[in-house]
Amino acid sequence: MEFQLQRLAALALIDEKLDELQEDFGDLPMKVQDKEKKVSVLLNTVEETKGILLNVKKFCTTAQLTLKELKDKEESFGKQQFLVKNNKEFDAITSEVNHVKTEYERLENQLRTETVKSENLDRILKDQDLDYQTEKEELVTLEKEMRELASSQDEEVKELYIKRDKIFGTIEQNITVEYNRIRAFHRNAAVQVKRNSCSGCYSSIPPQLLVEIRKTENLDSPRHCEHCGRILIPEEFVIDDSLIESI
Ligand SMILES: [Zn+2]
Repeated sequence: MEFQLQRLAALALIDEKLDELQEDFGDLPMKVQDKEKKVSVLLNTVEETKGILLNVKKFCTTAQLTLKELKDKEESFGKQQFLVKNNKEFDAITSEVNHVKTEYERLENQLRTETVKSENLDRILKDQDLDYQTEKEELVTLEKEMRELASSQDEEVKELYIKRDKIFGTIEQNITVEYNRIRAFHRNAAVQVKRNSCSGCYSSIPPQLLVEIRKTENLDSPRHCEHCGRILIPEEFVIDDSLIESI
């Protein structure tokens, strides 16, 4: 292994393999992310409904106690009415009784409304919770799928990275910097010449450039496709796993 371009071709092959492995995940990471968001929104909704329901139920409990107190009060005023000594006292107690009755009716109506509300909220909460549980289960399944895929790739990815690091270190920095810069635009930043064309963008390469690419003394300084800017690897190179292993 003597030429920089051969090392670069090996690096490009490793990167291609790593990219392919990454592609195996497909839209799975995106799906997990979407599902996570959905689950989080649903959980918030469930918690919000729970909060509202708790307040409504608290109100109902308190209102039931207050209604009982009002009923007791009304009874006690009723008894007092028999014991009054004059009209003035009678009127005063009657006014109290009326006040208690009005208050009772008002609270009773409100309790009725809140009880209906509580029943509705119970139903809504049940539906919301079911939605949440369903989405959560789907998220768990997706995450499991991701983990399984990742662990099946683990060894392969690890080995490729070790080889990549090794090869990367043997390539001159100006070339790797260039390679990385191109990779921001084209994942396959270094491509082989095939039938006198760039195999990245398929445009034909001018004869003069083809000659330059073939020159042995030029194999340490990359030439670029004039159309897409990718680094061109000579057509004669054999680029396969043995190339990676030979470095
Ligand atoms: Zn090109």
